Amino acid sequence: MFKFRISFTAFVLIASLLFLTGMIPTAPAEGMYPLSEIHKLNLKDAGLKINLTEIYNPEGVGLVDALVKVGGCTGSFVSGDGLILTNHHCAFRALNKASTTENNYLENGFLAKSKEEEIPAEGYTCRITESYEDVSDQVLSAIEGIDNLAERSKIISEKMEEIGKAASSEDKSIIGQVSEMFKGKTYVLFKYRVIKDVRLVFAPPRTIGEFGGETDNWIWPRHSGDFTFMRAYVAPDGSAAEYSKDNVPYKPKKYLKINPNGVNEGDFVFILGYPGRTYRNRPSQFLEYQNNYQLPYIAATFEWMIEQLENIGKGNPELELKFATQIKRLANTMKNYKGKLLGLKRIPIIQQKKQEENELQKFIDSNPELKSKYGRLLYDIDIVYNKIFQIAQADLWFRVFNRFSITRNLINTIFEFKKETEKPEDERKEIFKDSNRKDLLKKIDGMFSELNKEFERRFLAKMFTDALNFKSTSKIKAIEELTDNGKNISAITEFVDSTVMKSEIFNKESYLNLLFKEDVSFETQPLFVFFEKLKSQNEQIINERDKTNGALTKLSAELIEVKRLWKNKDFIPDANGTLRLTYGRIKGYSPADAVYYSPVTSLKGVIEKSYLGKEYQIPQKLRELFDLKEFGKFYSKKINGVPVNILYNTDTTGGNSGSPIMNAYGELIGLNFDRAFEATINDFAWNDAYSRSIGVDIRYILWITHKFSGATDLMKELGVM
Ligand code: ASP
Repeated sequence: MFKFRISFTAFVLIASLLFLTGMIPTAPAEGMYPLSEIHKLNLKDAGLKINLTEIYNPEGVGLVDALVKVGGCTGSFVSGDGLILTNHHCAFRALNKASTTENNYLENGFLAKSKEEEIPAEGYTCRITESYEDVSDQVLSAIEGIDNLAERSKIISEKMEEIGKAASSEDKSIIGQVSEMFKGKTYVLFKYRVIKDVRLVFAPPRTIGEFGGETDNWIWPRHSGDFTFMRAYVAPDGSAAEYSKDNVPYKPKKYLKINPNGVNEGDFVFILGYPGRTYRNRPSQFLEYQNNYQLPYIAATFEWMIEQLENIGKGNPELELKFATQIKRLANTMKNYKGKLLGLKRIPIIQQKKQEENELQKFIDSNPELKSKYGRLLYDIDIVYNKIFQIAQADLWFRVFNRFSITRNLINTIFEFKKETEKPEDERKEIFKDSNRKDLLKKIDGMFSELNKEFERRFLAKMFTDALNFKSTSKIKAIEELTDNGKNISAITEFVDSTVMKSEIFNKESYLNLLFKEDVSFETQPLFVFFEKLKSQNEQIINERDKTNGALTKLSAELIEVKRLWKNKDFIPDANGTLRLTYGRIKGYSPADAVYYSPVTSLKGVIEKSYLGKEYQIPQKLRELFDLKEFGKFYSKKINGVPVNILYNTDTTGGNSGSPIMNAYGELIGLNFDRAFEATINDFAWNDAYSRSIGVDIRYILWITHKFSGATDLMKELGVM
């Protein structure tokens, strides 16, 4: 049921371009291919044994119809009754939310013995791609004749939203969303079917689902059972509906067939999924920005936050449970960023990019026509990035502060509420409409339940102190004023302890009074004056960001154009959360001098690691099954044991977690969940030497489901009993 529409002229243009340049790739080394590109691939030569139409069929049904986007990850339907297979770490937040210290599903696992026992995965929705359509002309026509750069980027965002809204159904069962494929150049409207009732069906205990914890995260060799089953439900008429016991399991157009025999080293595999973000089409300055600002700042700040959360929660099971998801997310990003920083040291990607840009400049200069059109392009990009570098510290600081400070979010909600409610109801932001009061109160409840005052106190002091070290173009003005330009550092503790922490806003009742009370004057209250200053500087920064974004929208489009002419080839759009295909082989690698890693781990490795204790603890039953050699049909002769994790050279990134790994026949043989440490720089440049993704072998999933958990009904539903 996939439909792709593209104007005839665009089609002729693209087709002739492809023909002229002869750039249809046969065996590309990298690539997260959008569906519009896969017909250009020679997958049969690469090892595929089925027809492309069985993967993606615009006129009928294909494997892509079994794919879902769930909880920021990917999942796939594995039964006709809406059963979804995804990662344990993707369902982690739902398991965390559903757990109490008495009924701790996160620690002990969860198995619904019948559909009635399945529990709502709070806050989770699913999206299924229904169709896509090139809308570049519509989007770009909106900025014709507009020179103001900040305006341009705003207009593009508004236009994208407008097109998306117009394509959404009234009941929101189908929503439209426009994605930017190439900045300032290509825009595609995706229509998604939305499912709002998602439930937990089966998750292994944390000691299996997250075996190896943060020590093993982003690491090969790996031995994690990172999988969970969920189920999608809809209203009896098939429309999207919030949780209700009257809802019925969703009947997907397609579900994946499991091959319980798994794969072997060297086998062809392909992956469908929703990779989040890559940055390969960006200029060298973007990598400098990452290397010098974003990666070190975020990694260090998150590391500090994790330490505090662990320290505050220590010995308090309730707090430990409350912080679990937060800590996991911070740790995941922190380690990824550390991997990237190390990778940028070990592999000269930035220098290579610079070198490439020098050569590009020579190519441009060699042709008068190109020179007059693109002669200044690289220079102009440099100017924009210099502006970005000037305010990078402040910009990143605000991003972190706005995301994590509950004080800031409570106070900003008051500011916004006051401003919005001065407008007529229909002109207000959705959340501030009187008719949506319920949603506003829910949001506030959420903030209060996230709040931990001790963490907040430490966080504010840390953020304010850090900001004193920023360069002059990145100073946070309110903090400079508070500390007399850094001369009086103790003013920070004084302000945080006496003015912020003693404020009535932390009492929910007082907060709501303040929010809804008319005629409150904030000008005399130091707390509000301070946060108002922060807010206004943040707005200036957002405005700057819009300007640089607007400039880059134009320049990036030109960069891609001229690179196309230079390299005589087409480029694959960076990952942007839309459905992609990638393929490769089960393959080992050499991460360091004198080290070679083979690509399959086994249950024996789980047992070996278990003697290290701590994050490698395993349930007693797992050890017993191993001792009894209860491997059933999941035993592999080739590796003399039950395969646990597999390694392959496909091209994946964050968001690909939970993606089905399929064999040459399109059968499910594993579940993608991570990358090797060296592969974290994949997001900047793919390379067969270090780009390796990690998945759970289907045999381990089935062995745990069947032998460890005795979930025979589930095995029957999967068609493997
Ligand atoms: N672990 C990642 C995720 O959560 C997958 C990856 O980045 O390779 O999506």
